[in-house]
Amino acid sequence: MVKRNPTGENEALTANSGGVSGSFGGQPDSVPTDDDAQEPVRLRFASLPLFVESYVLPNWRHPTNGIAWCGRWWEHAEAITRLSACWEAFEVMRREPAPALSVWWRDHLDVHMAALTRESGPFKQCDAERGMHRQQPIWSNVQPPAGLFPVDDDAEIGGRPAAQTKETR
Ligand SMILES: [Zn+2]
Repeated sequence: MVKRNPTGENEALTANSGGVSGSFGGQPDSVPTDDDAQEPVRLRFASLPLFVESYVLPNWRHPTNGIAWCGRWWEHAEAITRLSACWEAFEVMRREPAPALSVWWRDHLDVHMAALTRESGPFKQCDAERGMHRQQPIWSNVQPPAGLFPVDDDAEIGGRPAAQTKETR
């Protein structure tokens, strides 16, 4: 189970906090199985950093003018989240017939890399060539008055304690 904290930031930066699905930087929660063998399918890459280093970056070679990138991408919550999502999708789609890999590039890697490297993106104040690195702060959020929005009692985060007690009975 993925543990979360209310602030989100520290959790996002915890490298092994759980599975890729809905969390950051760990192993995929569920690995697809071969129908024939009924055995777990081995991942192509053992970790998110290995996926980025061995697959994403060697295949993603663009001029860096006007592009922001950070060699310490793993200290940026948005990068961990987006690249984890790409990795999770890759591990599933690489096993699917063509044009799955093309779809993965178009719908996953292209989209997330464009978002990460845009000029106003999370790496805006980083400079990979100069070794400069600066994390962006979490945007402001003012808590709304209680009762203004409906609350799902069964939610993992923010659910009412009574709902959790009910589950354990
Ligand atoms: Zn950085």
